[in-house]
Amino acid sequence: MRHTIAATLVPALLLAAAPVLAAPDRIAAAATLRDKALDTGAYALLEDLTTTVGQRLAATPAEQRGRDWAVKAMKAAGLVNIKVEPFPMPVWERGIETAEVVGAFPQKLTIAALGYSGATPAAGITAPVAYFADYAALEAAAPGSLAGKIAFIDHRMMRAQDGSSYGTNGVVRRAGPALAASKGAVATLIRSIGTDNHRNPHTGSTVWQDRKALTAAAALSVPDAEQLARLVARGPVTLKLVITPTFNPDGQSANVSGEIPGSGARSEIIVIGGHLDSWDLATGTIDDGAGMAITLSAARAIKDAGLKPRRTIRVVFWGAEEAGIWGGRAYAEAHKAENIVLAAESDFGADRVWRVSSKVAETGLPLIAEINRTLAPLGVAPTRDNGAGGGADVAPLGAMGAGILELEQDGTRYFDLHHTPDDTFDKVDKAQLDQNVAAWAAAVWLAASDDRPLRTKAN
Ligand SMILES: [Zn+2]
Repeated sequence: MRHTIAATLVPALLLAAAPVLAAPDRIAAAATLRDKALDTGAYALLEDLTTTVGQRLAATPAEQRGRDWAVKAMKAAGLVNIKVEPFPMPVWERGIETAEVVGAFPQKLTIAALGYSGATPAAGITAPVAYFADYAALEAAAPGSLAGKIAFIDHRMMRAQDGSSYGTNGVVRRAGPALAASKGAVATLIRSIGTDNHRNPHTGSTVWQDRKALTAAAALSVPDAEQLARLVARGPVTLKLVITPTFNPDGQSANVSGEIPGSGARSEIIVIGGHLDSWDLATGTIDDGAGMAITLSAARAIKDAGLKPRRTIRVVFWGAEEAGIWGGRAYAEAHKAENIVLAAESDFGADRVWRVSSKVAETGLPLIAEINRTLAPLGVAPTRDNGAGGGADVAPLGAMGAGILELEQDGTRYFDLHHTPDDTFDKVDKAQLDQNVAAWAAAVWLAASDDRPLRTKAN
């Protein structure tokens, strides 16, 4: 049952007393949120997280400190039903990592081990380099042809607003080391999956189907990869690698969540959030402290405006995304009986939202149109199609039928910083961060004050 209140631009105090709003009032409230949320506490939250906690490598005490911070931040934002839900996972931690050219042109190269890399002996390995221009070239190599060699996989990643080149070239990191090992390689180096030209290697997880096949795997910074390619062009190159990470199968991470409870009778839940863990090389600012700050600040803006959602707004900070989406998968499994109607994550940096995408039931498309119209003054382009996959942490919820909303961020400079020692607070543009909060607050409010079905499958 909807009740109408007679106001178009609704002051926050009036909204506090209001029951469920009729459509025009919902939209007016969203516009107010959009305009008022342009200066929120997100920047200060992100400064505090990245200064006082710093890096939050999955299943380590640093990630635990991040969870403690998150619980406090959610309480301070006025969220309730705050939960910390643990799940088991292995712990991979970086050790020593050095690379040097031996022989005719001796020099050091800058590397970072990939997550789940195996280790060399403590004294290292010395072996000749086999060069592959891209993943397809490695695929074409004959079985056994890399025996005793260090595979070096190059590629050509392009800068793109939508980050699409990561999809094309990410396979080099994820699958390259295991493929090279299957052909006999004793170790693998990749050109960093990145678009910068600084001597900052980009780490990230690599995947092993068979841990017995494990070898050392590391990323060269982009300039070092180009240097190695030039050396290879001059003749055979031999490298000495020392890469000594550790692996413990018995670790634990956790997801943290808190809510603004909804007033509706159907126990419908909207999940929003970002991932709490980060890589260990920097302070996890754009990946993904920003997503945490944006989504928590958006929920807070709705609450502080005195608005009462019909649907519960639940902010989730997933653990252990970088190490292989452990938190997102554990979360979907633990909450599969709940009526999660929409899931949305912010995990593509701190730059502005430029486009909306979605995957919702037909009945939800008018809501997506309202979101498009409301976000247009922020410079956000409308939804292209209704086929969004969501990000890594919400994809498992989407696969179970939750509707998906994506507020796509400008990724033009994201892969300059992603997974590098340069992912630090000074890179954040406050105006762009606040634009994110404004977009999220308005969009989440519109979805949470609505009652049109969004799920793509019944649960
Ligand atoms: Zn991330």
